Order: sequence, then structure tokens, then C-alpha cells
Amino acid sequence: MLMNPTVRKAPALADVVISVKNVSHAYAQGAVKTLNDVSLDIGRGEMVCLIGPSGCGKSTLLNIIGGLVAPSTGEVLVDGKAINGPSPKSIGFVFQENTLFPWSTIVENVVTALEFQGVPKAERLGRAQAALDNVGLADFRNSYPHQLSGGMKQRASLARALALETDVILMDEPFAALDEQTRTYLGEELSYLLADTKKTIVMVTHSLGEAVFLSDRVVVMTARPAAIKSIIEVDYPHPRDPDFMMSPHFSELRNEIYALLRDEIRQTVGGLVGRAAGRDRSKGDRPVRVVE
Ligand code: ADP
Ligand code: MG
Repeated sequence: MLMNPTVRKAPALADVVISVKNVSHAYAQGAVKTLNDVSLDIGRGEMVCLIGPSGCGKSTLLNIIGGLVAPSTGEVLVDGKAINGPSPKSIGFVFQENTLFPWSTIVENVVTALEFQGVPKAERLGRAQAALDNVGLADFRNSYPHQLSGGMKQRASLARALALETDVILMDEPFAALDEQTRTYLGEELSYLLADTKKTIVMVTHSLGEAVFLSDRVVVMTARPAAIKSIIEVDYPHPRDPDFMMSPHFSELRNEIYALLRDEIRQTVGGLVGRAAGRDRSKGDRPVRVVE
């Protein structure tokens, strides 16, 4: 049962904001091939999560979309314009690690980002305070990062990205360093926050539950070099609430994604489960250690 009306619907793909066209990529002149012919259109106001085995190339793809890394072949268009480098006026970032300046207060951190973006001085403080208010940190604006919890620091990073008022926000495992309860709660907050905005979000996560809870579509990547293995639509209105998380539909989607990922993860990490895959669990068989 939904406690709130639908604010944000899954957008029509007619209005494409991000277009990834046949992107392949290798680090160090082909030594580490990371992306294999990735093509993906993302609609205005859409929330897309990228999920895949560790090291497959998710961050690389996100960084290519954001203009921090150049593709080896292919291109990315944002609002129809080719991305050839960082575009702080149109694309905001939230990273996994805390990227706040430790010597500045929270509000100064946001003001500095606005200054880098070229926002006129008279507007900076008001916009920074409004963004901090938006994420529930108004009372902590004069605190230093070390005085905040991990969850609050990530909220401050989100406020900084929101203050930049870009249409696109890219997030690389923004909650990965947090404990499970905090990240679940922040996920709920994010769902509410994003329901009010028309922002287009691409987020890398390794959490299946987080991907299903937040996304309009979950893009499942293969083992490196990453290609798109499958795209799962999550047809549930935003903002999402804990009822969704406890529904059979949520579990079905989560299981479907895990089934898709499992082979890719096995290729990446190997291990006992793959080697003992022939066993019959219903007979209580246990994994067998294979010594090579
Ligand atoms: P993911 O985010 O999916 O965990 P990444 O995109 O960070 O994966 O990395 C993909 C692969 O590229 C990994 O094998 C990683 O070690 C390698 N890699 C990442 N960054 C660099 C770099 N700057 N130079 C060389 N290799 C890199
Ligand atoms: Mg990564």
C-alpha cells in the first residue's frame, strides 16, 4: 500500500538526456579492457542504477558519462552535446568516499563548489543553505566534516550536488561506506528527495536491494570488459516506501537481478560454489573443496 501519491513517474524515453553510443574503453593502451560496446539511452528524470561484479567497469562508465575519462571508441551525448571533458554546469557528482574539505565547514564546502561552478557570489550562501535545509542538515551547516556521522557527510555531499542545480547527477556507490541500516534509511530519503526533482540520476551500486528500491531501470553489467547483460524495469511509483521493500514484487525483482549477476560474479571471483555447482541441495549435499 502506498502512503503517498505518485509524484514522479518513470519518464518516457522520448526525451533522452544521456545517450551512450557504442562506448568501449581500455586503460593503459589496451592492457585492461573495461567496456565492450555499451549503448544506453537515459530519459529525463529517470533514475538508473548500474550493477555488476566488482571491477567490471561500472565506475569507468560513470566517469565516461561525466567526462572524467575519455572513451577509447564511441561517444556520450548529454542533452544532445558530445561530452569531451568535465561539465560542472550540467553534471554533478556524488562519490563513495567523503570528498568534503576537512578544513571547511559544511556550508563553506557547498559554497566553494558553487564558486568553482561560477555562481555569482551573492547567490552562493543562499543556495548552499537551501540545499542543506533540503537534506536536513540546516542545523549542522557550521559544523566541520569530522563532527558529522558518515551518513550526514554523504547527505552533505548530496546537498553539494543538488546546490549545483545540474540536470544530471552521477553517483558512484554513495552509501557504500555506511552501515546497512543507515544506507537503507538514506535510500528512502533519496527516493523522497528525487521524487520532487526532475533530475536524471545514474547511480552505481553493489546493493541489489538499493538498485531495486531506487531505480526506474536497473542495468545489469557483465564481468569485465563490461557489456550490458540485461535491463530490468522497476514498475513501482515514486517516492518509494518500506512497504515496497517488503513486497513479493520487490523480492522477485531482486532475485531476478541476482540470478543474472551470479554467473558474472562467479567469473570474477571463482570459488567453491561454482566448482560444486552440480550438487543437489535438496539432498543436503555440501560444497566440496576441490584441490587443484
Ligand atoms: P567497478 O567500478 O565496476 O568496480 P572500475 O570501472 O573501477 O570497476 O574498474 C574496471 C577495471 O579497470 C578494474 O580492473 C580496475 O582495476 C581497472 N582500473 C580502474 N581505474 C584504472 C586506472 N586509472 N588505470 C588502470 N586500470 C584501472
Ligand atoms: Mg567502482
